[in-house]
Amino acid sequence: MPLIFLLLDGARSDVFDAPFAAGELPELARLRSDGGLYPVTTAFPSVTGPAYAPFLTGRFPGPIGLPGLRWYDREHTRCRRPPHCRSYLGSEIRHVDGDVDASAPTLFELAPSRFAAMSMLARGATAREQMGRDARLLWRIARTHWRGDAAAWLDIDRVVSLLARTHIAQRRPDVSFVALLGLDKTSHATGHTSPDAHHALRILDDLVGHVRGDLERAGRWESTHLWIGSDHGHSPVHTHDDLADAVRAMGDGHRVLAHPWVFTRRPDVAVMVSGNAMAHVYLEPARRARPWWPSLRGRWSALADALLERPAVDLLLLPHDARRCEVRGRGRGAALVERVGMRFAYRPLTGDPLGLGEPPPLDDIECHAASLPTDYPDALVQIAHLSGAPRAGDVIVSATRGWDLRARYEPMPHVSTHGALHREHMLVPLMVNHPIARTPRRTADVMPSALRALGLPQPPSIAFDGQSFM
Ligand SMILES: [Zn+2]
Repeated sequence: MPLIFLLLDGARSDVFDAPFAAGELPELARLRSDGGLYPVTTAFPSVTGPAYAPFLTGRFPGPIGLPGLRWYDREHTRCRRPPHCRSYLGSEIRHVDGDVDASAPTLFELAPSRFAAMSMLARGATAREQMGRDARLLWRIARTHWRGDAAAWLDIDRVVSLLARTHIAQRRPDVSFVALLGLDKTSHATGHTSPDAHHALRILDDLVGHVRGDLERAGRWESTHLWIGSDHGHSPVHTHDDLADAVRAMGDGHRVLAHPWVFTRRPDVAVMVSGNAMAHVYLEPARRARPWWPSLRGRWSALADALLERPAVDLLLLPHDARRCEVRGRGRGAALVERVGMRFAYRPLTGDPLGLGEPPPLDDIECHAASLPTDYPDALVQIAHLSGAPRAGDVIVSATRGWDLRARYEPMPHVSTHGALHREHMLVPLMVNHPIARTPRRTADVMPSALRALGLPQPPSIAFDGQSFM
């Protein structure tokens, strides 16, 4: 059965509650009652781009090469020339497909036919099979982004909706992946429950209604899957803390490489913010091999302590090696997260920063269940995967509610943010148009479920991070 996946970028899991209670968004409400609506966890960092990877590869983003929206390439594997760093905002978006590990095939590569609209990851789709990478629309998007015009994103959503609907009706691809970015952009600019953000939901509702109508007229609605998901949530920001400036001012002053001024000579530290509520901090970036925290501790303990004193910093992750990561919570002590075979152990050292108590080693499903009611859903698994990823920082920061980590150079006002490990950012909605076999847990469940829906075998070489709900 063909699959149409609509990605509503930046939707918190409760995004439909108030509109549904008010009797709005009738097409989406009908979809929910036909199939279902579930809260699921996204991946860390909870940010556009990396958080698309679970939908399209079934893998968490860090280990397959997308540790953040911005990252520093210590090994110079992908960013061979100075300043050896990536930011997918702007023209470097073209590198996403190549940055993702070739051993993690995309849904587009595995499906017999495909259509990708506004997808940051589109490997496997030819130019004719994708939209949003053609020059005119890109130019318009770029102008809209750098002008900081959130409402213009709603116009882009309308254009994308119309073109996608037409493409799907005429070409009938096996897989269609359509991302609508207006909700995220308007949420940043005016808030997640603002009138502009609500407008973005209405555009999605219209698109669902039109796609459904087209398929019903063609007699294909019952034999088509239509799923709606999101890559991250949102929460209000009252204060911006500039992490790069803060690091510059620490100790005797550090030379810091950070966007947009990345041509810092001989930097001591690279600060790569995503979302803007998380950051990878790379220490001694000239070292080509990853140093890990135990060997950095002597010189950099004061920096870690100073970071954790900042109200903006909620959690500090200090990877000890590829399998172990120290987690410090501001005012809540430290714990060690460790991968033991297929299980994840959590050992409080001086406290319980993730609020998990002292559980025995858990498998990834038990981890999900144990962490779901806490403030950090799926944090154990997400921390283990990201901290051990080759391209991750030596110190990883997750911001406190109400704060983010970049004070300047945003083209748009940021009254709302995402990227962190807490609930508002990690829990997202997943809606399906037909009943499914079990309750979905993670956005990474979508890829194996999509293969099942399409009647395609799972390639034996791939170990997905999610499980099929079909
Ligand atoms: Zn965003």
